[in-house]
Amino acid sequence: MLTIQNLTKSFAGQPVLKNIHAIFRDGETTAILGPSGSGKSTLLRSIDLLELPETGQIVINDIRLTFPSNPSFKEKKNYRRYFSIVFQSYNLFPHFTVLQNIMEGPMQVKGESKTQAKQKALELLTRIGLADKQTAYPAQLSGGQQQRVAIARALAMEPAFILYDEPTSALDPELSNEVLLTIQQLADAGNSQIVVTHNLEFARKAADRVLFMDQGKILFDGSTQMFFRNKDDRIQQFIQQIA
Ligand code: ADP
Ligand code: MG
Repeated sequence: MLTIQNLTKSFAGQPVLKNIHAIFRDGETTAILGPSGSGKSTLLRSIDLLELPETGQIVINDIRLTFPSNPSFKEKKNYRRYFSIVFQSYNLFPHFTVLQNIMEGPMQVKGESKTQAKQKALELLTRIGLADKQTAYPAQLSGGQQQRVAIARALAMEPAFILYDEPTSALDPELSNEVLLTIQQLADAGNSQIVVTHNLEFARKAADRVLFMDQGKILFDGSTQMFFRNKDDRIQQFIQQIA
C-alpha cells in the first residue's frame, strides 16, 4: 500500500499540488483524470521522486519519506525500487534488441544473472504477446509494440506499483488500443497500477478507481462506477468535454 499525506509542490511560487491525500492499495488500478495543467504529471512524478515534494509524507511498506527533506542517493534508490514509470514516448535503447532492453534493468540494477533475466524477459514477452519479436530492434516495431515492450521492461523490475503518464498520447488511435489492452490485462491480473490518462473509455474499463484532479486538488476519489455517475458540475463538464 502506498500512502500520500499532505503533499504540496509549487513551481516558481505557484502551487501545483495543494495538500494531496491519497491511498493506493495493492492490486488496484487507479486512473488519474483531470484537465491539462491540473497537476496529474507532477503528482505521478512526485511519487517516483522525479519531483521533490515540498511538504508531506509518502509511505510505502517499510519506507516513510517526510518532506521537506532531500533523501540521500541510497534512500532514493531504496524507495524507487518499488516503482517503475512508463512515459508517453517509449524510451527504449535503440541499439539493444527487445530482449536486451527488458534484461538490462534487472541485470544492472537488481544484479540478476543473465540466465535469470533472460528467462523472465521471455516470460514477460509471451505474456504481452510479443515473444516473436525478442530479437527485433525497437525501430523494427510499431509504436504500439514499442510501448508494450516498455511496459514489459517496467514489469521486469518487479515494482510494487507501475506508474504511467499518458502512455498512449504519442500514438495513433489504432495503436493506442493495443497498449491500453495490455494495461487492462495487467489490471485484470491484479497488478498495482496508477495511470494518468485522457482516455475515459479506457478508465471506465480498466480502472478500479478514479482520482479526479483540478487545479492541484483531488476533487473526486472513489470507484470508477461512482465517478461516471457523479453529478458534480466540474466532473460532468469534464466528462462531456472529453467524450
Ligand atoms: P497535468 O499533467 O495535469 O497536465 P502538470 O503536473 O504537468 O499537469 O502541471 C501542473 C502545473 O505545473 C502546470 O501549470 C505546469 O505548467 C506547471 N509545471 C509542471 N512542471 C513544471 C516545471 N518543471 N516547471 C515549472 N512549472 C511546471
Ligand atoms: Mg501531464
